[in-house]
Amino acid sequence: MAGERQDDCLFCKIVAGEVPADVVRETDTTLAFRDINPQAPTHVLVVPKAHYRDAASLAAADARVTADVLREAGEVAAQDRVDGTGYRIVFNTGTGAGQTVWHAHAHVLGGRGFNWPPG
Ligand code: AMP
Ligand code: ZN
Repeated sequence: MAGERQDDCLFCKIVAGEVPADVVRETDTTLAFRDINPQAPTHVLVVPKAHYRDAASLAAADARVTADVLREAGEVAAQDRVDGTGYRIVFNTGTGAGQTVWHAHAHVLGGRGFNWPPG
């Protein structure tokens, strides 16, 4: 069910401390940790501690935690000092868009230039 821990979910296990991660920020409702396969000098994932399959499901269920995730994405960018040059917040949603982990997460990417349209 939405919001409840899923035992087969990698990010639920990271939130629970059962899988190690390079955590950079934590709040009551969110966890931010470095991506294991970084695509930019700063590549951090911000996840809600509760389980939702994607960002839209999170937003439909809990506006406050959705805002927490976005605020924390900005805080990560500031902490890594990429806010001045600009950074990208990405929510891959669905297989065709590249989503591979089915626990909502924001990618915070910075420290290099980015093209538009994205690949
Ligand atoms: P997405 O493809 O948008 O679902 O993003 C999933 C992200 O999770 C990818 O960028 C992976 O590199 C990252 N990832 C997978 N396993 C781990 C892990 N154990 N710790 C940190 N990041 C991970
Ligand atoms: Zn999960």
